[in-house]
Amino acid sequence: MSEKHTVCAYCGVGCGLIVEEGITTDLRPDPEHPANLGRLCAKGANLMETLSPRGRLLQPLLHGTHVSWSRAVEHVAERFGSIIERHGPDAVAFYVSGQMLTEDYYVANKLMKGFIGSANIDTNSRLCMASTVAGHIRAFGADTVPGCYQDLEEAEMVVLVGSNMASCHPVLFQRILDVRARGRGPYLVVIDPRRSETAQQADLHLALRPGSDGFLFCGLLNHMWKLGRVDFAFLERHVHGFVEALEAVTDFDLRHTAELCGLDQAVLADFMTRFTLTERVVTAFSQGINQSSSGTDKVNAIINCHLATGRIGKPGAGPFSLTGQGNAMGGREVGGLANQLAAHMKLENPEHRRLVADFWGASNMAERAGLKAIDLFEAVAEGRVKALWVACTNPLVSLPNADRVRQALAKCELLVVSECMAHTETAAFADVLLPAATWGEKSGTVTNSERVISRQRGFRRPLGEARPDWAAFAAVGRAMGFQEAFTYANPAAIFREYAALSGLGNDGTRDFDISGLADLTDAQYEELQPVQWPVNREYPQGRARFFDDGRFFHPDGRARMLPIQPRFPNLTVDGNHDLLLLTGRVADQWHTMSRTGGLAALRRRDEEPFVAMHPVDAAERGIDQVVSGLVRVETRYGGFLSRVRVTEDQPMGSMFAPFHWNDTFAWDAKVNSAVNPTVDPLSGQPELKATPASIHPL
Ligand code: SF4
Repeated sequence: MSEKHTVCAYCGVGCGLIVEEGITTDLRPDPEHPANLGRLCAKGANLMETLSPRGRLLQPLLHGTHVSWSRAVEHVAERFGSIIERHGPDAVAFYVSGQMLTEDYYVANKLMKGFIGSANIDTNSRLCMASTVAGHIRAFGADTVPGCYQDLEEAEMVVLVGSNMASCHPVLFQRILDVRARGRGPYLVVIDPRRSETAQQADLHLALRPGSDGFLFCGLLNHMWKLGRVDFAFLERHVHGFVEALEAVTDFDLRHTAELCGLDQAVLADFMTRFTLTERVVTAFSQGINQSSSGTDKVNAIINCHLATGRIGKPGAGPFSLTGQGNAMGGREVGGLANQLAAHMKLENPEHRRLVADFWGASNMAERAGLKAIDLFEAVAEGRVKALWVACTNPLVSLPNADRVRQALAKCELLVVSECMAHTETAAFADVLLPAATWGEKSGTVTNSERVISRQRGFRRPLGEARPDWAAFAAVGRAMGFQEAFTYANPAAIFREYAALSGLGNDGTRDFDISGLADLTDAQYEELQPVQWPVNREYPQGRARFFDDGRFFHPDGRARMLPIQPRFPNLTVDGNHDLLLLTGRVADQWHTMSRTGGLAALRRRDEEPFVAMHPVDAAERGIDQVVSGLVRVETRYGGFLSRVRVTEDQPMGSMFAPFHWNDTFAWDAKVNSAVNPTVDPLSGQPELKATPASIHPL
C-alpha cells in the first residue's frame, strides 16, 4: 500500500486528498489539509472515476492523423515561427486555463512574454476572477487576498454576495455550517436575486434586483458614515480617497438604495445597521460580482466598506474573493493574464520588465499588455491573430457568443489544442491535437482561494502518449530555438526558478514572494506541505493575513478607496427579450462537463439542462402547460434548448440556467453560447450573468 497526498482538480477551495494505492486505488479526504480538514464534496469524492481511458486523447494528431510528439512539436514550432516572421509576434496567442498547474502556466507565460515577444496569453480565469484582480490592484496596489478561510469561521457575520457557495464552494460552505451547528454563529446574510441553495440556509436573504449589488454597497458606505462608524484613525494612517469615495455615495440614502435594489427599506436598514455595528464581518464574493460589465467597480464598492471601517486583515474581518477554479490563483500569480507579468510584477513597469527579462535571459520581452480573452477571440475572427494554442479549456462552450468563437476557430490559420479528452467542441477545430496528462497523472502546485500553495501529486503514468502541459510548451520553446531557457528536468526545477524569480529585487513592496522555497531539493519539493504565501525571509512559515500591519502595496504604502458610480447591467429587457437570463453552476458538475458529465453518480441530482423560472412568468407564457417541459431560450446572441423548472425560488422577471451542458451530454444546450459578451472596461470580464432573453415552449 502506498499513500499520496494531493489536491482536488476542481474548485478554488483546493481540498486535500489522500490517494491510497493497493489492489484497488482509494481516495479519501485529507484530515490535515488546511482547506478541507477532512471534508469533500461529491465532485472531489468521485475523482477516481474520471481516470477511465474512455474518451481520452491518447496520441498527438496532425490534421487527424497520428504523428509522433517530435513531429507535432516540430510542426507547431515551424508554423508559429513562420507566422511570427511574416506578421510579428502579436499574430500568435495562447489561451490557457485555471485548471493548469502553476508549473504549466509558468512555462507557457515565459515562452509567450519572454521569447515570442507578445503578451497575447490569456486564461479562462478572465471569465472568472479578472474583476477581482483589477479591484484588488486598484485598492491595495497588488492582487492580494487579505484573509484566510478561518476568517469565515471566526466572523460574527458573513455576507455572501454574488456567491452560491453551497453549490460552488461546497466544502467551504460546510465549514461555515459546521461552526453554526456548534452554536457559534456567524450570522449569515446572502445577497442574491435567487433563493439559491445557499440563500435557503441564510439568516437573512436579500433578494435584490439583478445587477444592483454596486448600489447596495454604495448605500452601505453612506449608511455607515451616517451612523458615525467610520474609522478615521485607520483612514488617516492607511488610506487615501475616503472623501471622494464618500462624495460619490451621497445620493444613496436608505430610501433611494432600497428602491434601486428592489428591497424593503426596513429589511435593508436592518442589514446595514447590523453590518455597521458588527466588529468581525467577512464579505465573501464570487462570480455574481465579477461577471458583470461593472464588476471591478462592484469589487471596489465592497472593499470601500471594509477600508472605511478598518475591518481588513483582522481575524474574522475583511473582503474575501472566492476563486472559481482550482488554480485560478496560481495563474494570477504566475502572470497568466494578458495584462500581468510574472510573480505579481507589473507589465507596465519598466523596472519589473527588466528584472524578469534579465532573469529569464529573455530574447524578446513583451512590452505592453496583450489581448484579453474576448478581444483575443475577436482578433482571431478578424484574422489579426493567426495562430492560437488553446490548453486545458473548451472555449467553444465556455465563452459567450459561441457563434463568433466558432467563426474565430474556423478562421485560425493554425489551431493547436492541448486536451486530455479526444472529442471536445474546441478540439474538433484543431489542426494539431496534443494529448495532455490529467489529474492523477501530472505533478505540480496549485494555489487556492486563501493563498495556500499545495502539491498536486501524480500517482499514475499518463495514459497513452499524454504529457504534462509544461512539457509540451517547453518542447515547442526548444524547437523554436530557445533551448537553454526551456530545458527543465522536472516540475521541481520549474518551481525553483519561479520561486527565485518571485523574490527578485523585492524590498517588501511586492506581495507575492515565495523565494523561501527557491532552494528546495527535488525531494523537498516532493514532500512540500501546504503553505500560505508569502514564504520568504520575513514570513518563512507563510502568512495568514495581509494588511494587519496597515501596509498596502501602492508606492506610498496606503490603500485606495475609489469613488464608485454604480451601474446596472448594460442590456435591459424589452418586448422581444422580456426576461433577464442569469447563469451559474450546479453542485455536482464542473465547467463544461468534459470530466464530470460522464459519471452517473454526478448526474443524479441534475440529469438534464434546466432553466428555472417563476410560476407567474411561466403561466403568463403558457410554459406551465408544456407537457414535455421542453423550451427554447433565445437571446440576441443565440439560443439553447432546455427543460423548464418552475419554482418560486426564481424571482419574477428572470430565469436561471446552469452553463455546464455541452453537446455530448445534451444537444444544443450550450447556455454561454447565448449570453452577453459585453465586457467590464477595466477587467475585460464579460457580463455572463445578465442577458435579456425570451422563452418559447416546444
Ligand atoms: Fe473541495 Fe471544490 Fe474539490 Fe469539492 S470541488 S472537493 S469543494 S476542491
